[in-house]
Amino acid sequence: MLEKILEHNRKFVQERKNAGQDKPISGHAKKDAMVFTCMDTRLVELLEPAMGFGRGDIKILKNAGNIIRGNCSDVIRSIAVGTVLMGLKEVYVVGHSDCGMRKQNADDIKVKMAERGIPAEAIEAIDIEEWFGLLKDEAENVKDAVNKLKESPYIPKDVNIYGLLMDPNTGEIEVIA
Ligand SMILES: [Zn+2]
Repeated sequence: MLEKILEHNRKFVQERKNAGQDKPISGHAKKDAMVFTCMDTRLVELLEPAMGFGRGDIKILKNAGNIIRGNCSDVIRSIAVGTVLMGLKEVYVVGHSDCGMRKQNADDIKVKMAERGIPAEAIEAIDIEEWFGLLKDEAENVKDAVNKLKESPYIPKDVNIYGLLMDPNTGEIEVIA
């Protein structure tokens, strides 16, 4: 696929240049907001337009299942960079219905890990449910992430934190926390 990407990229860059769209813009979030969401492919090119955000507007973070595992997690670190270092004032945790991380179970994952050559001792060394962050309910998972951000000593208390749930097909959002 890399060859196709590079071929596309050459055309893409040239077309943007010709249209005068290649001028530098600020790396700061114009809308003073961050979004933390799931890596689900259906949200690509859906979430930002569904929320009215374009290029340059927001900082966006993604992981499998929009799960925050603890205060030392890279999610907290990145949101601290956005809120403490860059002064962003709003954080939106955006989960979505029909999330793949709700459909996994620990036994299947162990089998898949073994099949893919992950050493048995590495599999045994982790609590699969905790390590992968398997979730039971998408809305509860969003509320949990919002609570962890609100309780985190590393996120300033004047930052507004919201929890939303998105339909991955229509883009409709519901405020849940
Ligand atoms: Zn998901």
